[in-house]
Order: sequence, then C-alpha cells, then structure tokens
Amino acid sequence: MSVTQQQVLEVLGRIKSPRGVALTNANVLSAISASDGKVFFSINVDAAEARAWEAVRAEAEAAVRAIPGVTTAMVALTAERKPGAAPAGRGAPGVQPVHAHKPPQGGTSPMSRQAEIPGVAAVIAVASGKGGVGKSTTALNLALGLRDLGLKVGLLDADIYGPSVPRLTGLRDKPELNAERKMIPLRRFGLAIMSIGFLVEEETAMIWRGPMVMSAVTQMLRDVDWGRLDVLVVDMPPGTGDAQLTLAQNVPLKGAVIVSTPQDLSLIDARRGLAMFKKVNVPVLGIVENMSYFQCPHCGTKSDIFGHGGARHEADKLGVPFLGEIPLHMAIRSTSDAGNPVVDSEPDGPHAAIYRAIAGGVRDQLKGAISAG
Ligand code: ADP
Repeated sequence: MSVTQQQVLEVLGRIKSPRGVALTNANVLSAISASDGKVFFSINVDAAEARAWEAVRAEAEAAVRAIPGVTTAMVALTAERKPGAAPAGRGAPGVQPVHAHKPPQGGTSPMSRQAEIPGVAAVIAVASGKGGVGKSTTALNLALGLRDLGLKVGLLDADIYGPSVPRLTGLRDKPELNAERKMIPLRRFGLAIMSIGFLVEEETAMIWRGPMVMSAVTQMLRDVDWGRLDVLVVDMPPGTGDAQLTLAQNVPLKGAVIVSTPQDLSLIDARRGLAMFKKVNVPVLGIVENMSYFQCPHCGTKSDIFGHGGARHEADKLGVPFLGEIPLHMAIRSTSDAGNPVVDSEPDGPHAAIYRAIAGGVRDQLKGAISAG
C-alpha cells in the first residue's frame, strides 16, 4: 500500500502545535515527500520557539510512522533565526540547528549534541575538503581495515549531498525497524551499515539544507540500533561549510581522519578541514593521501603524476599524524564501484595491506576509547 501526502496531512491535522492550532494550520510545514512508504518533511520554526517544538516533531514522526504502509518516517525540525537576532550558539550563521541547543541540565539529555551513543565506544569522522578525492572509498576500506584488526565496526554514510555507500557496498535495502522502532542497520562485510541513501532518493538528499542535514544525521546516529561497536566510522559530507561544521560540532566525535589528494588545491581544502575540526575541538587523527601516486595495473610501476608527498609534508608542517598513502589504482576503483571494496575482495593484496596499516594508525590513537586490539 503506498502512503499519500493526504494521509500524512490527515494525521498531522490531529496534532496540536504550541501555537494552539493544528500542526497543519500553523504555517510551519515544508513540502511532504511521501513515496514508497518513506515519508520526509520538516517543521520550520523560529529559533526562539524551537525547544517547544521538539515534542511536536517527535509526536508528528511517531504518528506518521504509525500509518499503515509507512516504513520510514523522518521529520526534521529546522529553526531559522530572524535576521539580526543574537546568535544562540556556535552553529551556522543565520540558521540555528535545533540539535545544537544545549539541554537544560547540561550534557545528559539524549538530545544533547555531544551525548555518547550507547554501546558505541568511539565515533570517528572521515572528511575531505572537497568532493571526489576518494573520501567514501577510504571510509569504507578503513572500516574494513579496522574490522580486520578484530574490532566491531559500523559505517554511517552521512554524505547527504551524494550518499555513495549504497554503490560502494551494493546494498539497496530499506532498514527494518526493531521492537523499539529503531532502525536496524544493514549488514555487509561484517559491518553494520547505515546510509542516508537507504532512506531518501538522491534528489531529495541534494536539496536538504544544513539544519535538516543535522537532524537527519542525528536520527541516523541515535534512532539506529547499532548494537555494540568499537568504532563507528562516519563518512562526512565533503567540504567545510556550515552543514559540515554543525555536524562536526554535534556528533560526539573522538577524532577525524582527513582525506586529501596530493594536488595543491585539494591540500588547501584539507587545511580548511583541519581548521574546522580544531574549531570544534575534535582531534585530527591524521591525514591520508589518496591517489598519492599512479600505480600501473600491468607492470606495477609507480608514477607521481600529482607530485606525490604533499599531504605528508603538510601533515608534518601542521603537526598532525600522517596515516598513509594510497595509490591511484584501477583495482581500487573497479572493486569500489562494483560494491566489492578492495580490503574485502583482495584481502591479501597490497592495497588491503595499506588500508590495514592506516587502520592500525587510527586504532592506536583510539586505544584509550576502545577496549579491543
Ligand atoms: P568522494 O567520497 O571523495 O567523493 P569517492 O570515494 O566516491 O570520492 O571516489 C571517487 C571516485 O574515485 C570513485 O569512482 C572511486 O572508485 C575512485 N577512487 C577513489 N580512490 C581511488 C584510488 N585510490 N584509486 C583509484 N580510484 C579511486
């Protein structure tokens, strides 16, 4: 049975807003996306009222989820500050992500921006200053490298602008809900995997604004039954804009790995990434140089077509660990794009060894947080 916008509106019409009128008459609803049992919309309110609306958001989401035929319901609360209003936090200028609000009594509320995720020892981000540098490929192979070190690992694809984990893993299913109505992550290669791409069509993802990104990612972190994990690897959206900053600030990160290519331009972007994590006090675990040198798939000869070594030099200069260099190699691209990442499909090959060494560097830095290894 497919769910219609009309059905969603009927349910929302029975919910009372803090303004005293029905939610549907409060002039706060975005367009409602309802297709294939998946329903998404946002409630847009003034930042000053945001806290009062969180209960309504939760009620709306529960009500929509209860409609027969709904498999996924995601309701984002987005709060825009009136022009000229005093900033209420460190979030994006002009736009206040609701989840950045401090809970009334400090850091213990489940809505707290830095609340730990129960059962997850360490959340780490894989970030890049721009798209196309191989961030997602690195995130997945790093997750697999950590798995090979005996850790329990999850992967959260938070790249809302271009979720690539469905392509990289070959997973397309929709996550099911458990008895507590938490989403059960998909499993592949021994990893617990969740992607915004399992929930929304790519076009929907593209138009989400910063606060909606945050709201969606918060749900993927906290409304998912991750089980017990040593490390949850978060594949961040590329870039260092407001959405990324808000994410870095709101997700309880133990550290971040920055992926860069050796080209100058990419390194400038990587530097911005470093600055971003510094701003929000997230330790940078290190830099990975991807597509570091070209390795001929036939003869194995190495060519430094991009002037290899820039990221190592940059890391030294900035006093950040250098985690390793990954060659530009056909096998990495073809396995990645076929949904068989190289660490899993060629575990005895040279590339898997490189990713495992990088994973070892990351694991060593997380030793205080994770028990295994
Ligand atoms: P990003 O997440 O930074 O946008 P992706 O991980 O999606 O980048 O990679 C972009 C493209 O580059 C993909 O086709 C991927 O297979 C390819 N790629 C990534 N790293 C390598 C590498 N080391 N060697 C060859 N191809 C790579």
